[in-house]
Amino acid sequence: MLRIKLHWQILIALVLGVLYGIFLKDHTFYVEWMGELFLRALRMIIIPLVFSSLVTGIVNIGSGRNIGVLGGKAMAWYLSTSTLAILTGLFMVNLFKPGVGADIDLTHDPVLEVTEGTLGQTLMGIIPENIFLSFSDNTQMLSVIFFALLFGFFITRVEGGPREQLSGFFRAVFEVMMKVTLFVIRFTPLGIFGLIAARIAAQDDLSSLVQSMGMYMFVVIAGIMVHVFVTLPLIVRFIGRARPFRHFAATRIPLLTAFTTSSSNATLPLTMEAVKNNSGVSDKVGSFTLPLGATINMDGAALYECVAVIFIAQAYGIDLTLGQQVIVVLTSLLASVGSAGVPMAGLVMITIVLTAVGLPLEGVGLILAVDRIIDMFRTAANVWSDICGAVVIARSEGEELKV
Ligand code: ASP
Repeated sequence: MLRIKLHWQILIALVLGVLYGIFLKDHTFYVEWMGELFLRALRMIIIPLVFSSLVTGIVNIGSGRNIGVLGGKAMAWYLSTSTLAILTGLFMVNLFKPGVGADIDLTHDPVLEVTEGTLGQTLMGIIPENIFLSFSDNTQMLSVIFFALLFGFFITRVEGGPREQLSGFFRAVFEVMMKVTLFVIRFTPLGIFGLIAARIAAQDDLSSLVQSMGMYMFVVIAGIMVHVFVTLPLIVRFIGRARPFRHFAATRIPLLTAFTTSSSNATLPLTMEAVKNNSGVSDKVGSFTLPLGATINMDGAALYECVAVIFIAQAYGIDLTLGQQVIVVLTSLLASVGSAGVPMAGLVMITIVLTAVGLPLEGVGLILAVDRIIDMFRTAANVWSDICGAVVIARSEGEELKV
């Protein structure tokens, strides 16, 4: 087994997991723990990895001016690609109108698993009251990022010894965390097998879901496909002057992991490893743009927010004006930035978009049943956009890549 290349092992695990979930539906007990252990191991890595990586990243970038330039490029990437994704979704949902006459149960009661505050609270929460509380909560990544950027920046502002010691220390932590990541990656096939088997077994009757929600799922997934396989590759090709599909192949392990775990945060260690070692993006760019991107840049989520809200409006027979659609676009962008990189975060954020255009919040109930499936696709798209961003920014900094 060990001689088979890792990505084949993962694909085999994926197929076996699906079969297990279908045929041994009542015996997931025996395999579920593998997925859970794998996820726990990934989550264990995230905070020290993100923190050491961002501090090292900022120290590497050096002067305030350079930080501004790289930060500006990263932000430009995050916002422009997410907007493109939203526009793709907007076009598709207006073209196919999946909600018009949709056969759905409008009395369904929404049960949200995750609860998050309003957008204002999310933004306010970026500045932590107690950084150690943020360190102990994987969903408060924005605070950790904020503190890391500040801390890294001021390391470059102290003189001599302390500066060398601190930057050396965080570089050492970062390198060790990358080694830990490589170690955990070896267990990816087992983790993915457990996760997929449990996911498939837990899914209620798939065929009836597909019947009632098929058109909606089709529009979201097709929109994501266009963004992933057409829009982003074109940008990588023509603006980044790099070969998008080689980078796709080089990062297939994080992409598959994003798909199965539905969490950009959990996938981050694998993304960083692949982008650095396989794609050949420098530490300077990767350590800075990837952790930021995993939290802020969510193209898949942005597209999904827009499609889902307009689908809900269509299902209720409400025609959104052009002005309202513009509000949907803008709030979808904000909602995607505010979503944490954890499973189903995007679903919760939809309430923001619904409120902005005055649609009933119960609408969330309509899309609840299929959200878990769609989450897999949108998370992979979120991670793929982070990867493309790192590649394009690295090229813009004059880097030669490996593939
Ligand atoms: N699960 C997604 C992610 O981790 C966020 C979302 O729910 O859209 O990237």
